[in-house]
Amino acid sequence: MYDKCETTPEQILQDVFGHDAFRGPQRQIVEHLLNGNHALVIMPTGMGKSLCYQVPALCLAAQHKHLAAQHKQTNSAAAETSSEQSRPLSIVLSPLIALMKDQVDGLRERHVAATYINSSLRARERERRYSNIENGKYDLLYVTPERFRKAEFLNVLQRREILLLAIDEAHCISEWGHDFRPDYTRVEQIRQRLDNPTTIALTATATPAVQTDIIRQLGLDQSRVKLFHEGIDRPNLQLSVHAVWSDDEKLDHLIGLRQRQQQRGIAYFTLIKTLQRFSDTLLQQKVPHLIYHGELPREQRKQLQERFMNEPDTLVLATNAFGMGIDKEDIRFVLHVDLPGSLESYYQEIGRAGRDGQPSECVLLYDQRDLATQMEFIHWSNPDADFYDRLFHVLVHDHEKLDAFGMDWLREKIHHRQKHDHRLDTALSMLERYGTIEGSLSPLDVRVTGPLPNNLQDAEYLEEKLRRDQKKLYALVEYVQHEGDRKAFLHKYFGLPYHPHTEKSPA
Ligand code: ADP
Ligand code: MG
Repeated sequence: MYDKCETTPEQILQDVFGHDAFRGPQRQIVEHLLNGNHALVIMPTGMGKSLCYQVPALCLAAQHKHLAAQHKQTNSAAAETSSEQSRPLSIVLSPLIALMKDQVDGLRERHVAATYINSSLRARERERRYSNIENGKYDLLYVTPERFRKAEFLNVLQRREILLLAIDEAHCISEWGHDFRPDYTRVEQIRQRLDNPTTIALTATATPAVQTDIIRQLGLDQSRVKLFHEGIDRPNLQLSVHAVWSDDEKLDHLIGLRQRQQQRGIAYFTLIKTLQRFSDTLLQQKVPHLIYHGELPREQRKQLQERFMNEPDTLVLATNAFGMGIDKEDIRFVLHVDLPGSLESYYQEIGRAGRDGQPSECVLLYDQRDLATQMEFIHWSNPDADFYDRLFHVLVHDHEKLDAFGMDWLREKIHHRQKHDHRLDTALSMLERYGTIEGSLSPLDVRVTGPLPNNLQDAEYLEEKLRRDQKKLYALVEYVQHEGDRKAFLHKYFGLPYHPHTEKSPA
């Protein structure tokens, strides 16, 4: 199929995206897909995973247009409609509604026929897009996997030829991953419905166990999926860990690092409360900085992100909500004031430093008490079978009270006096992901639309997930205590080959 592509990937890269050259393995991946082969791509955030499927999608579309034009010259004038009807479509599965719109807006600015369909659209707009799909108006379609539950959508797709399926944020497929989405486990089924298109799964981090799981969930044999794995093997990143015994010591580190590095940097915190306290102290000491966390209104977060990107040498105190879409080359340091939740998030977060290749510091502070915080998080994110059972029972039988008194009542009912127990939040969002409830989680206004899924009634299954999460935290502790080469440790954890860059000392 590849040799018939009249428009080359390079042309598309330049004409559509305005880039001079492919980065890292992008070119190889594009070619691999155009030859009809499947791929699993692991590449740090911000390296350019999107182009790996956007370019082939547009190549395939261009190839079709070219063939149709030839056909038109030699055949009847009615060819144009039939050409649109046979126009191939590439589908991108993405879990994040917010990012979908940004991606599609960006593509449309570049005159790419792209669109998205998700629950944020009003019925009329959704129908308009459905009919456009039927009429072959798009080359790229972004959807959430949940969309494939809707018969109407499946009918619309039936009329299109799907040559390429991209699964973004593919770690969501895996129960071993850090952000499991039940609907992603239907990808094998989705692939079959689409007539087994060439498939590319992409993620920023996946341990070997997650990689195997992703491929299994695609319903493909390991040998048929080529792995493209780009580590952050960047010699300019200097990784260090410091044991501390108090918040005051953490503050000293932050201030010291700031004095040493008067350039752009991020300090990551686990809890908003701590972040705020540190921010107050920095203000007293007249150290300018921004703060960013998930409880700030969306509009304000956007502004803060822009200020961080545009103002020189900014320091931001942030929770892990900060980072998506941060594509700044000259971030000189990433400081983890608190222990992050897993090596996966640590690795993603330090990957934001020093993309320009200049020396950059990644400092992790470790106070043993942080471990207790993380263990509590694990507890909150793993309600047991009994918990799900109790919650489901209340949702089904007490819905009148629930409608009248909302979340506070429910929290009281389920957790009694322990207001700071967040298992309820986890459980509700899991029920939503499984399609057991529908509606709004905040403010709470839901109705039960399905049964309690087997997984959430299976004590053994839930215990195993809990143990896996604990193991991940344990790996992080091992990393903290590791005395040898930290990069070697990280590469081993992510199943990456490691070739240390040794500095040549003068003879
Ligand atoms: P990821 O999905 O891996 O986090 P994106 O696909 O969102 O990354 O790309 C991150 C940024 O890198 C984008 O701004 C994109 O335009 C840019 N980019 C990607 N590939 C290239 C390239 N070959 N040359 C220059 N810039 C690129
Ligand atoms: Mg991406």
